[in-house]
Amino acid sequence: MADVIDGKKVAEDVVGKVKALTAALAGTKPGLAVVIVGEDPASQVYVASKSRTAKECGFHSVQHTLKAQTSEAELLGIIADLNADPAIHGILVQLPLPDHIDAGKVIQAIAPEKDVDGFHFINVGKLGAGELETAFVPCTPAGSMLLIERVRGKDLSGLNAVVVGRSNIVGKPMANLLLAANCTVTIAHSRTKDLPALARTADILVAAVGRPEMIKGDWVKPGATVIDVGINRIPAPEKGEGKTRLVGDVAYAEAAAVASAITPVPGGVGPMTIAMLMANTVISAYLAAGLDRPSF
Ligand code: NAP
Repeated sequence: MADVIDGKKVAEDVVGKVKALTAALAGTKPGLAVVIVGEDPASQVYVASKSRTAKECGFHSVQHTLKAQTSEAELLGIIADLNADPAIHGILVQLPLPDHIDAGKVIQAIAPEKDVDGFHFINVGKLGAGELETAFVPCTPAGSMLLIERVRGKDLSGLNAVVVGRSNIVGKPMANLLLAANCTVTIAHSRTKDLPALARTADILVAAVGRPEMIKGDWVKPGATVIDVGINRIPAPEKGEGKTRLVGDVAYAEAAAVASAITPVPGGVGPMTIAMLMANTVISAYLAAGLDRPSF
C-alpha cells in the first residue's frame, strides 16, 4: 500500500514557519486583504477560512465583503486603494465574480507585487520563464509541489510527470513547476487520446480535472507518486438520506494499492492552498521591507 501524504501536517508546518517569519518581522505585520463580491456560500466559507488563518498567523487581516450588485468600477477602485496601501502586502479577490464584472480585468488590476494568488500575467510569465525566485506561484500548485518534494526531494531529474488538466489555476502552473524541477512533463486534457496509457508513463501523476474518481488504479504506474487536486462532492446514501462526501479525481483505494505515495481527499492538497497563500503573503511583506525572500 502507498504511503499517505499528510497534507494537513505539511500545511501546519508551512503555517508554523509563516508564524515564525511574521514574529521575526520587526515593526510591521504582513497585511492580507481578501475581497469577496456576492453571497456564494462556498466562496464565503473559503474567505472566512483565509481570513481566520491570516489572523492566526499574526497578520493584519482585512476583509471587504461587497454586495453582488457592486459595479466593476467600484471594485477596481477598491483594488487601487489596496495597491496603494503600504499596510497591505497581499490582495486576493475571491473567484468567481458576478457575471457583470470582468474577472480578468480585476485580476490584472492587482499590483503584481501584491498578487499573492499568482494570477497576474507578470507572475504567470515569470513562472513560465522559470523565474521562480521572483514569481508569486498560484497556491494550489505551489502546495502540491511541496507535497511532491516531501516524497521525492527538490530535484526531480529524469522523472516523467503527467498533469491531467490544463487550467490556468492548477494544471498549467503545476506543469511549469514540475518542468522547473527537471521533470519531463506532459499536460493532458479532455482532448487527449488514450489517457490511461499516458497516465501509466507517469512517475508523478497529478490529477486536476474535477471529475470524481476518474483516474483508476490501472492507470497508475507501480511506484508512482499520485497527487489528487480534485475536490468533488458526491452523494453518500450510505451515510443517510441526502448526505454527501468528498472524493478526489482519483479512485483512491485502487490507486493506493499501486502507487508508492498518494494524497488523500480530503486532507491532501486541500489544506496546502490556504497555507501557501499565507506563505506568499509573508514573502511579499519581507520583500516590501527590503529583506531576503524567505523560502518554503
Ligand atoms: P477546470 O478549470 O475545470 O479544469 C479542468 C481540466 O480538466 C480542463 O483542462 C479539462 O480539459 C480537463 N478535463 C476535463 N474532463 C477531462 C477528461 N475526461 N479527461 C481529461 N481531462 C479532462 O478545473 P480546475 O480549476 O483546474 O480544478 C480541477 C479540480 O481541482 C476541481 O475538482 C477543483 O475543485 C479542484 N481544485 C482544488 C483546489 C484545492 O485547493 N485543493 C484548488 C483548485 C481546484 P479541457 O481544458 O480540454 O476542457
